[in-house]
Amino acid sequence: MMETSKKEIGSYFILARDGFEELIGVLQKQSYSVFGPTVRDGAIIYDKLESASDLPVGWGDEQEGGHYRLKKRNDQAYFGYVVGPHSWKKFLHPASIRLWQAKREKNGFQVIEENDSTEKFAFIGVRSCELHAILIQDKIFLKGKFVDPIYKKRREKIFMVAVNCAEPGGTCFCASMETGPKATVGFDLALTEVLTKNEHYFVGTIGTEKGAALLERVPHQSADEKQLKIVDEIISKAASQMGRSMETADVKELLYQNDDHPRWENVAARCLTCANCTMVCPTCFCTTVEDVTDVTGQHAERWRKWDSCFTMDFSYIHGGSVRRSVKSRYRQWMTHKLATWVDQFETSGCVGCGRCITWCPVGIDITEEVRAIREKRIEKEAVKV
Ligand code: SF4
Ligand code: SF4
Repeated sequence: MMETSKKEIGSYFILARDGFEELIGVLQKQSYSVFGPTVRDGAIIYDKLESASDLPVGWGDEQEGGHYRLKKRNDQAYFGYVVGPHSWKKFLHPASIRLWQAKREKNGFQVIEENDSTEKFAFIGVRSCELHAILIQDKIFLKGKFVDPIYKKRREKIFMVAVNCAEPGGTCFCASMETGPKATVGFDLALTEVLTKNEHYFVGTIGTEKGAALLERVPHQSADEKQLKIVDEIISKAASQMGRSMETADVKELLYQNDDHPRWENVAARCLTCANCTMVCPTCFCTTVEDVTDVTGQHAERWRKWDSCFTMDFSYIHGGSVRRSVKSRYRQWMTHKLATWVDQFETSGCVGCGRCITWCPVGIDITEEVRAIREKRIEKEAVKV
C-alpha cells in the first residue's frame, strides 16, 4: 500500500521505479533545478534532467588506467554505471566564473558586483565517495578562516539524493579510503537500486528533515527486513569488487620520509603534466584569476578559473616557477592529496573515486605509486620542528 505519511530520519522506504519520476517531478515543483547523470559525447556526465528518461538507462561503463568506454547493459538499470569525468564540484565550485565587471566612467571606473545564480540545485545519483568529496570541499570553502561566498551560496540550497554503488569500476578504491560504497553521511535521501529478473525498485533511507518532508509528497512504501537484507548484500558485494585499493596506514609519514625516492623520477618520465587528474578530481580546488578588457578599454572583467599544480605558472613567483621539474609537480600533487592535506584540513584529499587513474592519458595510478614507494621505502630520521 502506498504511503505519504511523514517518516523519521533513518527510516527505510521503498520507491517503485515509476516513483523515481515522481521524485524528480516533486523536486521540480519545489523549484529545484534537477541535475544528474546522463549520456553525452560517449561518457556519463552530470547535466540538467527533465525526467527520469534522461538518466543513463541501460548504460554501464568499463574503466581502467587511461581507459573509459560506455557499455550497453543487458538490463534497464538507471544507475548501473561508475562515476565519469564530471564531479559535482562543477556546480558548487564552477570551473570558470566572473567575479566582477568594471565600466569606465568620467572619473574612473564603476565596479559592478556579480549577482551569482540563486538557483536551488537537486543532485540525483550522488555516490558515497562524492558525498565525502563534497564534505571535504565544505571544510576548505566553509570551515576555514575564509569562507568562499560563491560556494556557500550554492551549497546552502542543495537537495542531495545519493545512490549507493552496486558495481564499482576497475579504478575504484573507496572501500580502502573508508568513503564508500555505502552512503552514510551528507545526503537528504539515499537509495539503493534493486534490479532482478522480475523486479526493479529502490530501497531508500532518510538522512534529513528536508528529505523526510520531500518524501511525504512522493508515493512510497515501508521497507521490510528482506529488502534491507538485499541492500546489505548489494553493498557488501560492491565493497568486495573494487578494482583498486590503497593502504592508507602511515601514508602521510611514508610520503614525508620519501621525498627523494627514485619512484618520483620514474613517474615523471611518464607524466605529461596535462593536469587532467586535477580537473577530474572531486576535491582539487585550486584557482587562478584572469583580468580581461575589451578593445576600447571601456569595460574590464575579472574571472576565476580552475587551475592546476601541474602547470608551470601555478608556482610562478618573481624570477620563475618554484616547481620547474615534472617530478616536483607530480610529487607536490600526490603528497598534497595524501599527506599535507591531512595537516591542513584533518582529512585525506583523496576519496578513492578513481577518476585520476581513468582519465590520465598514460594511466598513471595513484594507488600504484603509493605501493611502489611503500615497497622500497626509505626510512629517514624524523625532522623535529
Ligand atoms: S586523487 Fe584521484 S582517486 Fe583520489 S579523489 Fe582525486 S580523482 Fe579521486
Ligand atoms: S598524472 Fe596523468 S593526468 Fe595527471 S598530469 Fe600527469 S599525465 Fe596528466
